Amino acid sequence: MGDEEKTPKKAKTTADDDDDGINKHTGNALSRRYYDILEKRKTLPVWLQKREFIEKLSQSQTMILVGETGSGKTTQVPQFVVDAGYTADGKMCVCTQPRRVAAMSVAKRVADEMDVNIGEEVGYSIRFEETTGPKTMLKYATDGMLLREAMTDPLLSRYSVVVIDEAHERTLATDILFGLLKEILVKRKDLKCVVMSATLEAEKFQGYFLDAPLMKVPGRMHPVEIFYTQEPERDYLESAIRTVTQIHQCEPPGDILLFLTGEEEIEDACGKIRREIQNLGDEVGVVNVVPLYATLPPAMQQKIFDKAPEGKPGKPAGRKIVVSTNIAETSLTIDGIVYVIDPGFSKQKVFNPRIRVESLLVSPISRASAQQRAGRAGRTQPGKCFRLYTEQSFKKDLQEQTYPEILRSNLGSVVLQLKKLGIDDLVHFDFMDPPAPETLMRALELLNYLGALDDDGNLTTVGQVMAEYPLDPQLAKMLVTSCEFKCSNEVLSIVAMLSVPMCFIRPRDQAEQADAAKAQFAHVDGDHLTLLNVYHAYKQAKDDPDWCWNNYISHRAMKSADNVRTQLVRICQRFNLPLVSTDFASRDYYPNIRKAILSGYFMQVAHLERGGRYLTVKDNQEVMLHPSTCLDRKPEWVVYNEFVLTSKNYIRTVTDVRGEWLIDLAPHYYDLSNFPMCSAKEVLKRYYHQRERESKK
Ligand code: ADP
Ligand code: MG
Repeated sequence: MGDEEKTPKKAKTTADDDDDGINKHTGNALSRRYYDILEKRKTLPVWLQKREFIEKLSQSQTMILVGETGSGKTTQVPQFVVDAGYTADGKMCVCTQPRRVAAMSVAKRVADEMDVNIGEEVGYSIRFEETTGPKTMLKYATDGMLLREAMTDPLLSRYSVVVIDEAHERTLATDILFGLLKEILVKRKDLKCVVMSATLEAEKFQGYFLDAPLMKVPGRMHPVEIFYTQEPERDYLESAIRTVTQIHQCEPPGDILLFLTGEEEIEDACGKIRREIQNLGDEVGVVNVVPLYATLPPAMQQKIFDKAPEGKPGKPAGRKIVVSTNIAETSLTIDGIVYVIDPGFSKQKVFNPRIRVESLLVSPISRASAQQRAGRAGRTQPGKCFRLYTEQSFKKDLQEQTYPEILRSNLGSVVLQLKKLGIDDLVHFDFMDPPAPETLMRALELLNYLGALDDDGNLTTVGQVMAEYPLDPQLAKMLVTSCEFKCSNEVLSIVAMLSVPMCFIRPRDQAEQADAAKAQFAHVDGDHLTLLNVYHAYKQAKDDPDWCWNNYISHRAMKSADNVRTQLVRICQRFNLPLVSTDFASRDYYPNIRKAILSGYFMQVAHLERGGRYLTVKDNQEVMLHPSTCLDRKPEWVVYNEFVLTSKNYIRTVTDVRGEWLIDLAPHYYDLSNFPMCSAKEVLKRYYHQRERESKK
């Protein structure tokens, strides 16, 4: 008897053992490409364990699967689930990814592997973009999206199998899903859960999931030789570029993967590498330098899978050079990499609950990360990893594991979602690593000030509506309140613009022209209204890409903003929030919008002090207006969207607001009996007296 007999429903056929040339999902003849990819799939380590996997899954509700990056977990295991028949009765298999890029890219790859169209049998779901349909049986989703789904479908009843992938990443959403799934699995005995992870924190997962069986996929890793620098590097970027060119000149064929921290740095490095290698002339091989980061358009992302360029006849072989963020550490596997350059940094979220500031900071990676990075070099043949730090530093300075995100985040959004999910007792929620009590307190406090939770910590009516938006609680509040201020149309546009990457493009060699173009949109009251101006101008130009190009505006950002806006409008309509505007000719048009912004962000206000510096209200942090601001003056009070921590503290995307509005819109927050000493307090006191006098009259 075959192993598959033991599974609940036997798959009709599986292409690998019973091939009649017909696609069992669509009924169409299988394509040439299908068979080409199938040959490659059969070489993946996980392929050999298909039967073992299906058997283990049939025998227990939860299982843990660990294996080297590139062994085929993400692309193959969900297909095994489909082949085993778990999706035969109309329920789906969902596989979560921490990153949007990975969810999209892997879904497309798997659609190709199954020879179906993306969005039909195989789909994906990321924030503001759902590409699935009635036929979908396998869905890749960001962990955050699955968490959102749980809000409307608390038992995840559409799914028969939930695969939590990249569990070692321990993102905020993954950690919360863990806790939820443990509860759901008790209530739904028919639900199966597979936890997949790259590194070997397997025992920790096993312990948490009550000794779920563990399956290990032995990696086929080639040895990787590690090199350290003798001295610490002053400038990791410069040193990284130098290392790339040296490898290209001196080392045998094989592609290069360089880890950097973010879009700007990566694009910058790609340009420099191209130029340096061009300067080396004809004696070195041709190169194809490809960037990879989360906001790169999908078509560009696909380029990392292209083969290295052919060398010119009689000249050295060509080389592919991928310059990537952490995405390439475990989420996406790039074949053919032989050389890895690891400067030892990545952008990581950090949260300081005391001053309520969450930011992305370039920080040293962990030893576990460094090992993952090195491993990328040994996928297809023995490789080399160049660490741009000393061995001493690796052993002494790097921490063993990266702290899970839940210990480094502002939990406002998560607590709101948990409340919406009906989880009231946060203290006893089964977190794998419970967050710091102060962080939880801060989140509860924020939601209480925003009016989303009442004083007993229960979700209010406003809170219910806020939780429906896939937005930070402040943005959601600003949107919900905008109806009262008769400007929901405008605030929707601003929220959409704030939810996508910054729309202004500023090429280094055309900075002046770009700044001049941006100045046309500048609004005297600040950056939020400037964004609104851009959005209106874009719509007036009928979404024209040429208009964007000529005005140094990113068409991609505008298209996404438009899409986000459409999605948000749908949610507004679902909850009967009216789409309204103040008459443009009215003096209140802009003040109303500024008030709506403030009603969400009254906890992010800075006051101008004597001497021209700003202090954040209540937290008393010294900050400066970010150089990108369009404000050419210093208003007494500004509301800001973001606190940027660098060598100096900046506030970015700022708008002029009136001090009186603070006490009108958020008297509970601006209650002077609970206010640290500062000059802002004195000013506020005057406003209160003024209000008192007015009310007596
Ligand atoms: P794991 O999840 O174990 O790290 P994956 O399932 O992501 O492994 O990858 C297995 C193989 O599939 C890799 O060798 C990778 O090169 C290949 N692959 C994945 N996505 C694509 C793609 N979009 N194009 C080409 N090959 C891909
Ligand atoms: Mg994977």
